Amino acid sequence: MTHLMRAARLHTVGQPMSIDQVERPVAMGSDVVVEVKACGMVPNLANVLANWETWYPQMPLPPRPAIHGLDPSGIVHQVGPQVVNIKRGDRVYINPGRFCGACHHCSSGRPQACEHWTLGGYFGYNPKSLEMFSRYPYGGFGEFILAPQAQVIRIPDNMSFVQGSRMGYLGTSYAALKKCGSLMGKSLIINGATGTLGLGATLFALAMGIGKIYAVARGERLLERLKALSPERIVTFSNTQGSSGAFVKQQTGGSGADLMLDTLGAKAPLDSMLDAMGGVKRGGRIVNIGGTSGPLPVDVKWWMDEQMELMGSVWFTAAEGMEIAAMIGSGIIDMSVMTPMVWPLEKINEAISGVGKSDGGFTYYAVEI
Ligand SMILES: [Zn+2]
Repeated sequence: MTHLMRAARLHTVGQPMSIDQVERPVAMGSDVVVEVKACGMVPNLANVLANWETWYPQMPLPPRPAIHGLDPSGIVHQVGPQVVNIKRGDRVYINPGRFCGACHHCSSGRPQACEHWTLGGYFGYNPKSLEMFSRYPYGGFGEFILAPQAQVIRIPDNMSFVQGSRMGYLGTSYAALKKCGSLMGKSLIINGATGTLGLGATLFALAMGIGKIYAVARGERLLERLKALSPERIVTFSNTQGSSGAFVKQQTGGSGADLMLDTLGAKAPLDSMLDAMGGVKRGGRIVNIGGTSGPLPVDVKWWMDEQMELMGSVWFTAAEGMEIAAMIGSGIIDMSVMTPMVWPLEKINEAISGVGKSDGGFTYYAVEI
């Protein structure tokens, strides 16, 4: 017998989503069905829905009518017959990363490099993503969602479902910092530090032993709030006041910071990234997780002469999600510095247009189902 559920669906770009009755998923094989309690509202969603197919035609959106929703958390409702280690009633976050599970990259714990790599409920990275969307057509803006067991992450009791729905951006920042190697005593420029990714990166870098963070953003008010997280270890700079790279060089006696993370929003100016890169010292590593796009005029002689490493990082693995869940469970990361804004599923369209108007990364957005 078929059961129905409520889900917000996008039928046409430019039109509001509608709350539809659709078929509830059933877990087969090693898949899991989760009753969604909350799903993160990505500040970038309105932008993705409106512009992605024009800006990045190689990156497909889920076929319409589509159930979007990137960051779902909830309670396991049903497990397929081949599921191990997850049971009905578990409180979980679902990592929306989808991949083949069988290629060399997937087998090496690098699913983001898989040719099928896709963010469920959001967008894909190449035409093969359409195959992933057809296997897992549900996003988090519905009452139930289907997910492969390998992407189901148990969350600790002290993490609410709404907090769980903030996992995606936390994970993106955490995974990028892990690519920097040991942070103990090192110095790090975070460009776009007061945004959603920047705040997460700040919290994790502090927890992971960073010596000094050079937090670069535009607005002084949020920079002050960020500095209050660790006044001795965070140095702030508003790049409306001049060159962030020159500021960091000056602060470090001319040598620069060991590391840099770029966390700027979609289509942010490349100048800001390039300027901050000038503050990284010889042999430094620069990791990009932001939404800036376009050709970057990098001086390749500088790149070689100074042995710079430029690296991209996308999303995070389920293993990294488990590490974050453990850090929150043990109090190493305190999510109370961030405040949620929550809408019910019925107000999905208000939620899409209501994000991004508050306190940068200090506010996050979720839909409760
Ligand atoms: Zn693969």
